[in-house]
Amino acid sequence: MSDKRINVGGVPVGAGAPVTVQSMTNTSTEDVEATVQQIERLAAAGCDIVRVAVPRMEAALAVGAIKERSPIPVVCDIHFDYKLALECVRMGADKIRINPGNIGDESRVREVARACMEKGVPIRIGVNGGSLEKKLLEKYGAPTPEAMVESALGHIALLNKFDFDDICVSLKASDVKTTIEAYRIMADRTGYPLHLGVTEAGTEYMGTIKSAVGIGTLLAEGIGDTIRVSLTAPPEREAEAGIAILKALGLRGGVKLVSCPSCGRCQIDLISVAQEVERGLKGCDADITVAVMGCAVNGPGEASAADFGLAGGKGEGIIFKKGKIVKKAPVASLASELLKMIQESL
Ligand code: SF4
Repeated sequence: MSDKRINVGGVPVGAGAPVTVQSMTNTSTEDVEATVQQIERLAAAGCDIVRVAVPRMEAALAVGAIKERSPIPVVCDIHFDYKLALECVRMGADKIRINPGNIGDESRVREVARACMEKGVPIRIGVNGGSLEKKLLEKYGAPTPEAMVESALGHIALLNKFDFDDICVSLKASDVKTTIEAYRIMADRTGYPLHLGVTEAGTEYMGTIKSAVGIGTLLAEGIGDTIRVSLTAPPEREAEAGIAILKALGLRGGVKLVSCPSCGRCQIDLISVAQEVERGLKGCDADITVAVMGCAVNGPGEASAADFGLAGGKGEGIIFKKGKIVKKAPVASLASELLKMIQESL
């Protein structure tokens, strides 16, 4: 676990703070209206911190207006141009992502470090396996985990040189095993908060799986303080996937849905029932376990261990609450009866 903590616009990251979920807008940042609307959707989906790309000065100048309306902290993502970083800090960015080794002369690094220090703005060093320094690629022959860590340590040293220590680090590769190993080495060598992610993970299905394996493995080992699932999909899906990963590891509360895969013993359309229950519980932030089981063989056992549950039978099903059968209902209204009982009980 990291032993340092940064403060991203009031949201703590590191040193045992709850693991946060991040995502990134895909609107043009200078389109303030579209960007704020997307941030609002992300916040509603449970995203804790949002990042916006700042590829040009017009985008940097829009950060102030975005910040004014954003319900969650805003991180500005900058490549190469230190002037954009300075402008974003001036505009009230809550954090910037920039690699100090890529912005040229050290006097520029000093200027960025000083501006961030004055305003208490942390910097994320974001090492990406696809854009490692040439000299490291020559030394290691490929973007290996060691090469990525050496890159990050170089960027850190540059900031430390100017007494800047308000840092978090990411080491993303599109290969899951490389990503995992890079973070493990980094966690061993420094105590900076780690922003986890598998980069360019892919479309929604495969990208979610790769992210869950990469991020989930690290979190299960106690490594990582904030996460971003990277998907070729609307950003809200990234936030939802990130939250699901945290829930799977018991790192975030909320509804946990237990449902069986169904088998030849099942006599109801369990897939539809489970989907209806899942839809009905979307947005519910109660810390409860809900079981949806196909039959009474294993069904009541699982269902009764949950706070609420149902088990299918022939033409009807039973509904449980805290281990006790509460009622029977016909299949067509099984899901809605369960949802009604949950609603009444909360
Ligand atoms: Fe099959 Fe029943 Fe187990 Fe579901 S709970 S998998 S229907 S035996």
